[in-house]
Amino acid sequence: MEIIPGIHQLKVPIPDNPLGYLNSYLVKAEDGCLLIDTGWNTDEAFGSLARQLGDEGVSFGDLKYIAITHVHPDHYGLVGRLKQHTKAQLVIHEIERSFLESRYVHYDSLLDEMDQWLRINGVPEADRPQLQRASMMVLGLVWVATPDYPVRGGEHLRVGDFDFEIIWTPGHSPGHICFYERAHRVLVSGDHILPTITPNISMHRQSMGNPLPDYLDSLRAVAALPVDVVLPAHEHVFHDLPERVQEIHEHHAERKRHIVKAIGAESKTATRLRRTSRGRQWGCLGKSCRLTPSGGQ
Ligand SMILES: [Zn+2]
Ligand SMILES: [Zn+2]
Repeated sequence: MEIIPGIHQLKVPIPDNPLGYLNSYLVKAEDGCLLIDTGWNTDEAFGSLARQLGDEGVSFGDLKYIAITHVHPDHYGLVGRLKQHTKAQLVIHEIERSFLESRYVHYDSLLDEMDQWLRINGVPEADRPQLQRASMMVLGLVWVATPDYPVRGGEHLRVGDFDFEIIWTPGHSPGHICFYERAHRVLVSGDHILPTITPNISMHRQSMGNPLPDYLDSLRAVAALPVDVVLPAHEHVFHDLPERVQEIHEHHAERKRHIVKAIGAESKTATRLRRTSRGRQWGCLGKSCRLTPSGGQ
C-alpha cells in the first residue's frame, strides 16, 4: 500500500501474536531503497516480504539501507536472513546493538540475572524457572546480524528525495529510534507511538535508565514535530500525533495514580502488587510489567 508517493507499507505476518502483522516501510528511490523494520525469521515472513517487495518492483539487491527501530524479534528477527541476499547497510542504535550478543547468542548470564531479578521482585521459587525462560521461545525467530552503521540519534538517512532524521526515543526499548522526514511531514514511529494501544514499558535486567520517565520524555521529543502522517509498526497509519501523545500521557498519569493508591503506606514487591490488583480496574498491570529478558515486542 502506497502511503504517500515513494513510501509503501508492507504487512509482514507475525502469526500466534495478537498484533497479527508487523508494518515494514519501504522508501523507494532510484539510488537505492530504504526498508524500515523487517518482521521475524520465519519462512512465511521472508516469503511475504520478498513477494511484497517484488510487487513494488524492488529486489533485495535494490536495498541501500535496512533500518531497525529496535531489536525486538518482530522488528529485527529477519535481518540476518535478508543480509544473505543484499549488501544493504544495517542501521541500528548502538544501545540495541549491545543487546544482540547477550540476548540472542550467549544468553546464559542473562538467564542467571533474570532469576535474581525475579527473586528480588517477589516471584515465588516455584514460578521462577518458567518465567525465567519465558523469552527463550523467540530465539528461533531471530537470525542475528551485526549493524554496519550503529547510530545514536541525530544522523540522517538519505534516499532519493527523502531525508530521514534518526530520533532516539528510549522507553519501550532503551535504544528505540524513530525516523522523521521533515519535508514530507512523516514520522515512522516503530513501537514508540501506536494508534490505539500503548507499548509495554518494562523494567527488566537490560531496561537501563528509568524506562517510564524516559518514555514520557521521548513522547515529548516527537510531539512537537510538524507531522501529517504517522507510520507505526503495528495497527494502522494515523494523523493526529499531538492528540495521541496527549492520550498516552493521560493513560500513564492515571495508571500511576492507581499504583500509588494500591501501594498505600506499605512497601510491596511487584509480584504482590500484581496479585492484589487482580480483578480491579487496572488488573492488566501484570501484562505491562512483564518481566522478560527481551522486554516483549
Ligand atoms: Zn513490535
Ligand atoms: Zn517492541
